[in-house]
Amino acid sequence: MSSSQQSPPEQVDAVVVGAGFAGLYQLYRLRELGLSTRVFETAGSVGGTWYWNRYPGARCDVESMAYSYSFSEELEQEWEWSERYATQPEILRYARHVSERFDLLKDIDFNTTVTGAVYDHLAHCWTVTTDSGERVTARFVIMATGCLSAANLPRISGIGSFTGAIHHTARWPHDGVDFTGKRVAVIGTGSSGVQSIPLIAEQAAELTVFQRTAHYTLPARNRPLREGEIRERKAGYREFREELRRSPTGIPRELPARGAFEVTAEERESAYETAWDSGVLGALSTAFKDLLVSPAANETAAEFVRDKIRSAVADPVTAEALCPRDYPLGTKRPCLDTDYYATYNKSHVRLVDLRTTPIEEITEQGVRTADREYQVDAIVFATGFDALTGALAAIDIRGRQGLALRDKWAAGPRNYLGLVTAGFPNLFTVTGPLSPSVLSNMMVSIEQHVEWITDCIAYLRRNGLTEIDTTAEVEDAWTEHVAEIASGTLYPQAASWYMGANVPGKPRVFMPYLGGVGAYRVKCSEVAADGYTGFTLSSCAVEWTEGVAL
Ligand code: FAD
Ligand code: NAP
Repeated sequence: MSSSQQSPPEQVDAVVVGAGFAGLYQLYRLRELGLSTRVFETAGSVGGTWYWNRYPGARCDVESMAYSYSFSEELEQEWEWSERYATQPEILRYARHVSERFDLLKDIDFNTTVTGAVYDHLAHCWTVTTDSGERVTARFVIMATGCLSAANLPRISGIGSFTGAIHHTARWPHDGVDFTGKRVAVIGTGSSGVQSIPLIAEQAAELTVFQRTAHYTLPARNRPLREGEIRERKAGYREFREELRRSPTGIPRELPARGAFEVTAEERESAYETAWDSGVLGALSTAFKDLLVSPAANETAAEFVRDKIRSAVADPVTAEALCPRDYPLGTKRPCLDTDYYATYNKSHVRLVDLRTTPIEEITEQGVRTADREYQVDAIVFATGFDALTGALAAIDIRGRQGLALRDKWAAGPRNYLGLVTAGFPNLFTVTGPLSPSVLSNMMVSIEQHVEWITDCIAYLRRNGLTEIDTTAEVEDAWTEHVAEIASGTLYPQAASWYMGANVPGKPRVFMPYLGGVGAYRVKCSEVAADGYTGFTLSSCAVEWTEGVAL
């Protein structure tokens, strides 16, 4: 059919892209508002992260009873988490339960990727196109595409010639992978590598881990949840959730009052031991208030971890290679593990330090580094994501005057409050760059964003307004504010995915907002309460498609 013969696109109030925890909750809230909504999702089902990342050992590292929705008290009370840190299958079951319980599935198109979204400044609506050729027009587009959803498969020369199996942790086969009797290579030692390596080692005949950068990882101390503690948490859930919303990261933990050198060496060591024993993400990097701003203070915590590594790993050369040295502790996303360091004491597990012998190519039979070839039957890429902007850049998003978002953000993301970018009216990002997003318990941040976006749409509608945008001046100021806070910390010293450093050619910009979840929520709420200051609201001669009164 020629484009002139195409049937007119369906008109809805809103399109949501993605059916992970953000997209599901956004659909629920928009439906509650009476908006007609279509959701498109590349995957075959709901769950986002938890649909795709099925590698052995995948689990959350924010406690299950905090890493869950808070919007429905009934849901909160009826769902029973079994472990302190739930496994991927359990979290996926939870996502499915939510989608069925709230009857969300009927508005979601699975196996459908949004390829483009173009704003029509005369009709004041977006035309969204999918890979199935469908076009839908919508007043609002909400990008719930995920911060860690665009898998990063490095372009290593020869990768296509490998005759064995290639897996990426973020695209794991649904029926699992049996490594029994196999020689396996794992490339990458971030959270996904650290979680999967001990379990792959249990099966594989030989495991070779290729490490470019050593990570700081703490024992997760995962365990089954006790009935009493579940009951107690459920009884106090409202206060607990409120505490998370007001906290800096949405993760329950004590905040330090003192700097690392305001205590004796013994007290410092004892604080680090307490953090090490806690199994709480980020406990070590926040054991003292100056660890993420003072290199000298940070070094005391870093050395504490290195000592732990030296005592856990029998071979001193391997232990030294596993010791992170070239970036401050906490400035790359910390990891929680189960038996990670001890795995290197197994005789069939070896570590290859890519700092001394970089990978040169993938061969038909394995991985060739600067000094030799490692022949393997399977390669696991635990190489992470094109984080925060990757999933957005994959869509051809065009705002006013046909401006492409990927061109606008060529030197790094720019927007106001991580929510709206100038020239792209009525297009929202959930936990987008320049919001706290990945520096938080993301369930807390997802709920806050979805609720803010929903309230904003309700406000526009109530006031007969059709468009929300922002200006270049306002977003410049916010973007600079985000950068300024980061520059006062040690974070930019690490070549991290927060900085875009893991993807060749990506601009090096610290993308998440470091001001804290609680403070950020206050800022967003104040902006809304003041009539959306900093945003440009306008009314145009276009009626709302649906007549639901608010
Ligand atoms: P996602 O879950 O990533 O969902 C986005 C969805 O959008 C995906 O399903 C994707 O297929 C879809 N999509 C993207 N582009 C398109 C398109 N163009 N068309 C159609 N569909 C599209 N965070 C925590 O706070 N605590 C944790 O313990 C934690 N553990 C994690 C473990 C792993 C292995 C990973 C990878 C991340 C983890 N995270 C954790 C971060 C996690 O991504 C978030 O907590 C949360 O699940 C994100 O939900 P989301 O809906 O925003 O995005
Ligand atoms: P990641 O943290 O980015 O780690 C990727 C690893 O691959 C790094 O060790 C990286 O080295 C290495 N790598 C990348 N490209 C490479 C190349 N070309 N050659 C050799 N090595 C290469 O990715 P991830 O482990 O998937 O985790 C991403 C994020 O997802 C986490 O930080 C976390 O937020 C979330 N996550 C959470 C959990 C959890 O425990 N709940 C589990 C998994 C993921 P460099 O460090 O040198 O770049």
